[in-house]
Amino acid sequence: MSDLLERLRSRGWRLTAQRRVVAEVLDGDHVHYTADEVHARAVARLPEISRATVYNTLGEMVTLGEVIEVSTDGRAKRYDPNAHHAHQHLVCSGCGAIRDVHPTGNPLADLPDAERFGFTVSSADVTYRGLCPACS
Ligand SMILES: [Zn+2]
Ligand SMILES: [Zn+2]
Repeated sequence: MSDLLERLRSRGWRLTAQRRVVAEVLDGDHVHYTADEVHARAVARLPEISRATVYNTLGEMVTLGEVIEVSTDGRAKRYDPNAHHAHQHLVCSGCGAIRDVHPTGNPLADLPDAERFGFTVSSADVTYRGLCPACS
């Protein structure tokens, strides 16, 4: 589990019923839901929760650094609770399924000095694409 709820609690974040439901929906491994998917799942637990509340809560979790936004190929942004362990993504071109993967080596270290153009490089996103077992 990603222990998102625990992390938010230890940050002293006030856990209202709405915030708790959003955190519960996102808690888990390999979770990368769009805001609409989070909303649909949250409504199943707390019927009165609004889309605006879900969007605002996701934004606050991102600001806190406990959830990261993932963009894949112009599809809707996804929200990932695995915010503290550097990882890359394996994306299915068929159904859009996403898995967290941990390639050996460090993509930052792999960029040669000659190709840094004087930049101070702080992060790298690598996306592996292909077809998942269900789609291939
Ligand atoms: Zn697939
Ligand atoms: Zn991820």
